[in-house]
Amino acid sequence: MAQQTKSKKQSSKKPAKKNSDVRVVFLGGLGEIGRNCAAIDLEGKIMLIDVGLMFPEDDMAGIDLVLPDFTWLKENADRVIGMVATHGHEDHIGALSFLLEHIPLQIIGSPLTIGLARNRIEERGMLKQATFIEVSDNDRIQVGPFDMEFFPVTHSVPHGFATAFHTPQGVILHSGDFKLDMTPVDGRLTDLAGIGHMAKDDGVRLFLCDSTNATNQGFSESETSIGQSIHDLFRSKEGQRIIVACFASHIHRVQQVADAAIANGRIVATLGRSMNKNVHLARQMGLLKIPDTHLRKIEDIEDIDDANLCIISTGSQGEPMSALARMATGDNRWLTLHENDCVILSSHPIPGNESSVTRVIDGLLRKGAEVIDSSTHRVHATGHAKAEELKVMHSIVQPEWFIPVHGEYRHMTEHAHLATQMGMSADRVLICQDGQSVVLSDDGLRRGDDVPAEYIFVQGKLDDMDPTVITERRVLGTDGFVSAIISLSIVGPNVEMLGEPEIASRGWVHGDEGDQIRKEAMHIVRTAVENALKDGKRTRQELERIVRRALGRFVNQRTRLRPMIVPVILGAHEGAEKSKKKR
Ligand SMILES: [Zn+2]
Ligand SMILES: [Zn+2]
Repeated sequence: MAQQTKSKKQSSKKPAKKNSDVRVVFLGGLGEIGRNCAAIDLEGKIMLIDVGLMFPEDDMAGIDLVLPDFTWLKENADRVIGMVATHGHEDHIGALSFLLEHIPLQIIGSPLTIGLARNRIEERGMLKQATFIEVSDNDRIQVGPFDMEFFPVTHSVPHGFATAFHTPQGVILHSGDFKLDMTPVDGRLTDLAGIGHMAKDDGVRLFLCDSTNATNQGFSESETSIGQSIHDLFRSKEGQRIIVACFASHIHRVQQVADAAIANGRIVATLGRSMNKNVHLARQMGLLKIPDTHLRKIEDIEDIDDANLCIISTGSQGEPMSALARMATGDNRWLTLHENDCVILSSHPIPGNESSVTRVIDGLLRKGAEVIDSSTHRVHATGHAKAEELKVMHSIVQPEWFIPVHGEYRHMTEHAHLATQMGMSADRVLICQDGQSVVLSDDGLRRGDDVPAEYIFVQGKLDDMDPTVITERRVLGTDGFVSAIISLSIVGPNVEMLGEPEIASRGWVHGDEGDQIRKEAMHIVRTAVENALKDGKRTRQELERIVRRALGRFVNQRTRLRPMIVPVILGAHEGAEKSKKKR
């Protein structure tokens, strides 16, 4: 089979001298959608592929963002020389500014990707730590020991790349996020011919490929077919004010919405910080064409009739602070919805965002607006290759080894299955997870050492929150907390309780029944402390432990709940354990 021939070809080329090994380390994005980050470790230097963030899942209460674990990168900071940004999505560049706090980087990408990344980095004041290397389609550049070639791919943000690393161990090809759109809005096709040439001439030793849509059969729809559908929709909504929400980085979608608006005699206004920024950037770069005559600032639309207006807004994922969410709650300072509005969600919820999107849609409907989304209308096309497109890519790349990346575990498993279906032998396909690594050597591909790959939580100004915080919030969110406050008086060898213990609680029990239960709890605590004092227990730590155990047992038996138990002992001596506990 093809794979066999390829490996033979490879081995016949192999020089007598041993080539240096190449290690690939997976830091994020394998097992979740988001925080994509991998590293190529070659001749003592490290090149990163993407440094993305993830939006929190439903059970991560209060968390703003989730980052890849930078522990291993920080330990090897002097070896990290740069980062390839495959494209400008947040799950690929969004965590860069956090890494730049620790490690200065050369950031390599297309001009648009660099523009989007630069905006993000600037927002967090990290520009001085970054240098930028802009590359064009099919460029091949050398940075340190890394010989890299950039192939155009189509995706839901323009100017994405698949990246080939020409290494002493042959080519490692990273697909980036891609689909095979044969009629993309800008005519820039996924360079199957170029990839095919390379695969034929050099062979691809290791292929890392986007798995997001591996479980979806068939081919994805072309972006331009969505444009036609949006066009038709605009025509049918004559007289109504139209508000379209989509990803701010989806420049081609914005273009198609703007085209439909202008063709129907409407003026376009953008709404939302990232939409304003990206539209400005893309117009400056000539990637987005909206004539000045048809673009207005949101603050200047008052004199325009509903029938002549189209607003393009952020918030298609139901993000609570976004322009669309604020419209749904009536808090948007620029726009108040009314019954003549038609809101189009030109998007599909990312896994985990479904309930927020539903909430926003409900809010919009309550305000009297008509709402149209991808469940009933063709207003969105995915940016990721579906199963048949992945097969086309595999048939062209014909890798010697394959590792599915970018997906939940089920997506990667299905992608692996798809590769073996196409003739790859199962022992040439590896499913890896965050924190694992592989080593490519003259003898083939083997597992390497693991590295830390915890979820790193960001909230407010804290950018490395202890995961215990999330665990505590889960308990607080489901069962509340109960606190017992005990005051002691210690005079020489005599120790006694001052007054009764106090029981305070939140989110546990309330009302008359609550008062009764708290009274019972108070007795339990008093007895436990009295007995402990009789037994000669004196330190705060000992007494806390005893109270926590006694109160916990009572609370659980009496209410069948497991709230957080917080004992507070005032006046007791600190025990010897203090120094140990305080790290
Ligand atoms: Zn992605
Ligand atoms: Zn993407």
